[in-house]
Amino acid sequence: MTRPPVKKVVIAGGGTAGWCAAAALSKMIGPLIEVTLVESDEIGIIGVGEATVPTIRTFHHLLGIDERQFMRETNASIKLGISFDNWARKGDHYFHSFGVLGKSSWMAPFHHIWLEARAKGVAGPLSDYCFELQAAENGKFETSPTSRINYAYHFDTGLYGPFLRRLSEAAGVTRIEGKIARVDQNPESGDITALKLESGQTIEGDLYIDCTGLRGLLIEGALKSGYEDWSHWLSNDSAIAMQTEPTGAIVPYTQAIAHDAGWHWRIPLQNRVGQGHVYSSQHMSDDQAMDSFMATVGAKPLTKPRTIKYRTGRRLKIWNKNCIAMGLSSGFIEPLESTNIHLMQIAATRLVQLFPFDGITDALINRFNKLTEDEVVNIRDFVIMHYKLTERDDTAYWRERRDMAVPYTLTERIEMFRDTGHAWQVADEVFRIDSWLQVMTGQRLEPKSWHRLGQMMTVEQSRDALAAIKSQIDKAVAAMPAHGDFLKSYCALPEPA
Ligand SMILES: Cc1cc2nc3c(=O)[nH]c(=O)nc-3n(C[C@H](O)[C@H](O)[C@H](O)COP(=O)(O)OP(=O)(O)OC[C@H]3O[C@@H](n4cnc5c(N)ncnc54)[C@H](O)[C@@H]3O)c2cc1C
Repeated sequence: MTRPPVKKVVIAGGGTAGWCAAAALSKMIGPLIEVTLVESDEIGIIGVGEATVPTIRTFHHLLGIDERQFMRETNASIKLGISFDNWARKGDHYFHSFGVLGKSSWMAPFHHIWLEARAKGVAGPLSDYCFELQAAENGKFETSPTSRINYAYHFDTGLYGPFLRRLSEAAGVTRIEGKIARVDQNPESGDITALKLESGQTIEGDLYIDCTGLRGLLIEGALKSGYEDWSHWLSNDSAIAMQTEPTGAIVPYTQAIAHDAGWHWRIPLQNRVGQGHVYSSQHMSDDQAMDSFMATVGAKPLTKPRTIKYRTGRRLKIWNKNCIAMGLSSGFIEPLESTNIHLMQIAATRLVQLFPFDGITDALINRFNKLTEDEVVNIRDFVIMHYKLTERDDTAYWRERRDMAVPYTLTERIEMFRDTGHAWQVADEVFRIDSWLQVMTGQRLEPKSWHRLGQMMTVEQSRDALAAIKSQIDKAVAAMPAHGDFLKSYCALPEPA
């Protein structure tokens, strides 16, 4: 089926997803289209989602965003990765950084050489050979226009939307305040024809982007696009979120601390910390979760704790008829690896690349949906792996996670690494091989075998090669400023007069 040319885009919802879509469309192809965004201040935004992955920097670069200004206006801090505590076993600690591990050969990635050296007793922990990881663990950060350090941000979600709104409105986006009361559809095609607001106003468009959050007002409410439930793999369905005073120095990483039936997040910003308890309501009541949460925060609350309920899974048709879902309306994996903002930004830039100027076609819809599905399934597997590879047996929650059957695509990755030491990343996958390795080894998955490349080096050569990498990293990290000092000199808000 071929539809008419697309000129008018209507975005429903103004959370992070809505304003990311508005900013991408207006800044990149604004002169060719009209963009209207409708949002309701009364409903507001979900108010969580403050940690990101490095692709956000590419998105910002495409929008021409000045990093200092963005960081200043959103109270942002640097994220070099995630620190995991108590995941494989109680008392365990490991780090998933955004960095590259050691020096690889075309024959085999670095960890094969490291495994051989470790077997010979001349290697330190894998974490010794990653610059970003060492910078994070030492609380250091520095960047420059020529720096190749891999990093992302933490920011205040209540400030990020308004930041993108200013950018979008300057680029021509029209914002309408109001509550959507009805979604009108063409009785024959089912295409959306208009959004009717409670005020009586009608908003018409050729293409609609559903950014209404967990409600999915257009994509599900009107179009019944279907939802694939992943709660048998990702069983957490609840979160308590609260802002607190700083808990100490501003660390350049997110903390994910496992508890009896889920995990606790700490996201440090320049002026405060976002904290949350993610849990499975099958294994922990809301009251128990609240008690456990309040016992963990360790800092003075700045807001009241809020409970949020969600269902993990993906919308079966992200693009259905003349509507595309972005953000939480398109599904939710779970917050562990902070990937939802990445997915909405990829969706927005993909729409710019595949924009249906001459009309929406089925082939275009199928292509968009296939690319999105592949992407989201790889992330889903990566996140499930954190749970599947636990050795914890101290609660029913962890025993069930350890014993659950996982998707075949993940089983294949786990078995391959266990048997041969091989890990991989597929094209366009957000998590590189270095990420898979850090989490696999951090979760105590031990390979039985590995590439023999390292055997072509003498013990002394292996020891010296690893020592040289470590010494170079240690020297570079020692010369960096503390993250807090970097923030002060780079992007701190002026002191109030
Ligand atoms: C506990 C938790 C933690 C998370 N942590 C992270 C993280 O660290 N990193 C990450 O990348 N993602 C995270 N996410 C996901 C993240 O919250 C979302 O990706 C992000 O906040 C964007 O949400 P959204 O814009 O899709 O929805 P929302 O913020 O809910 O925005 C919905 C918008 O739609 C509007 N709206 C709804 N109904 C109507 C109506 N009838 N009429 C008019 N307007 C309407 C609302 O007013 C609002 O503007 C987390 C999610 C949860 C649940």
